[in-house]
Amino acid sequence: MSACLFCQIVNRTIQATIVHENEHVLAFQDIHPQAPVHVLVIPKHHVASVQELERGDVGLVGHLLQACVKLAKEKGISESGYRIVTNSGPHAGQTVFHLHFHLLGGRPMTWPPG
Ligand code: AMP
Ligand code: ZN
Repeated sequence: MSACLFCQIVNRTIQATIVHENEHVLAFQDIHPQAPVHVLVIPKHHVASVQELERGDVGLVGHLLQACVKLAKEKGISESGYRIVTNSGPHAGQTVFHLHFHLLGGRPMTWPPG
């Protein structure tokens, strides 16, 4: 998906502050952070949203969550707590159509979300 913003970050066509990478996932700082820690964790291959996950992608979700947990530890927010969010579709406010988990922390958060 050459036109996809996050595919271009994976390909290094567009710059981002990358904080973690392995065979399956890439993680980078959100360009408009909503909390002191705001990292996006994405699959390296294009999947539009959780809605588009295929049966074979089940393991991928584990890799994405594992990366979130590892980054939460590294960022020092494991004890204070954090939120992992993924938006799917218009009502959720998804703006980039390449699956991503937001890892948010470093401040208290409210519930329910807006
Ligand atoms: P969502 O609204 O859930 O689709 O989230 C998309 C996220 O991508 C937003 O939090 C944006 O701030 C973030 N974002 C958009 N463009 C970039 C970029 N070039 N680098 C890093 N984060 C970005
Ligand atoms: Zn993509």
